[in-house]
Amino acid sequence: MSVIDPSVVHGTTRLSLAGKTALVTGSASGLGRRIAEVFAEAGAAVVIADLRLAEAQACADAIACQGARSLALAMDVTDEAAVEAGFARVRGQPGALDILVSNAGIQIVAPIQDFGFAEWKKPLAVHLDGGFLTARAAVRQMMASGRGGSIIVMGAVHSKHSSRLKAPYVAAKHGLEGLAKVIAKEGAPHNIRSNVICPGFVRTPLVEKQIPQQAQEPGISESDVIENVMLEDTVDGRFTTVDDVAQAALTFAAWPSNALTGQSLVVSHGWFMQ
Ligand code: NAD
Repeated sequence: MSVIDPSVVHGTTRLSLAGKTALVTGSASGLGRRIAEVFAEAGAAVVIADLRLAEAQACADAIACQGARSLALAMDVTDEAAVEAGFARVRGQPGALDILVSNAGIQIVAPIQDFGFAEWKKPLAVHLDGGFLTARAAVRQMMASGRGGSIIVMGAVHSKHSSRLKAPYVAAKHGLEGLAKVIAKEGAPHNIRSNVICPGFVRTPLVEKQIPQQAQEPGISESDVIENVMLEDTVDGRFTTVDDVAQAALTFAAWPSNALTGQSLVVSHGWFMQ
């Protein structure tokens, strides 16, 4: 009779976040929510930080029901005072902050000639200002604790590649790669690692909204958007899943050394190849 070792999954040792605390922004929904759930399953205490407190609380409650420690926070990542107040609440909890996933994001699509200046600034604020403000707060806590930690920035294939109609999103996602590389260099003496995940299209609310928007162009149906715009250049015509991205986040979160820092990992069914 064969005995299955529960610490071994798919031939690799299960990654553990036991005793760690992770804060995930934009985790009331989509990728952030799944990352928080997977981190909790791996043993972490998780902080669900999102603009939408009721949805964040529901997520934290569901995680708590599974036996993990969780806390919901209302946090607008573009607001310096709100970010500082949120991180101060985490500091007041037992255990130091070990992991940040800077994931909150929005998308606005329009041709460049029609992009209003105010609309241009919104994705830059959420992705770049939010990435900076949350990473700065996390770095300060990780330095103060002396434990170091892992900062994971949610990029996109659009950190490396461009698509029509997405000028501020593509610009912001490219910028986040630079931010993560600087943190990797400055954080290294403090055992702080910093990496970027670059997903392809994942069917979250952010993407579901884009499908009818892009199908407004004359002669393009919603299935054309999916097959010929979103998935055309993948190797198998498939969407990336929230689980694919959460497993990549778990790897970065659990990696114990600076061997894996300043890197970006594309998770996109081969849409973009480095
Ligand atoms: P989503 O819309 O499901 O979730 C985004 C979450 O961010 C929401 O809960 C929302 O309330 C929150 N949020 C938005 N603005 C915020 C703010 N100012 N402060 C705090 N929270 C805020 O979207 P998603 O697809 O899960 O996207 C998560 C991240 O993944 C984003 O950074 C996105 O750019 C990135 N991404 C998504 C895809 C995809 O195909 N879905 C692909 C590549 C990268």
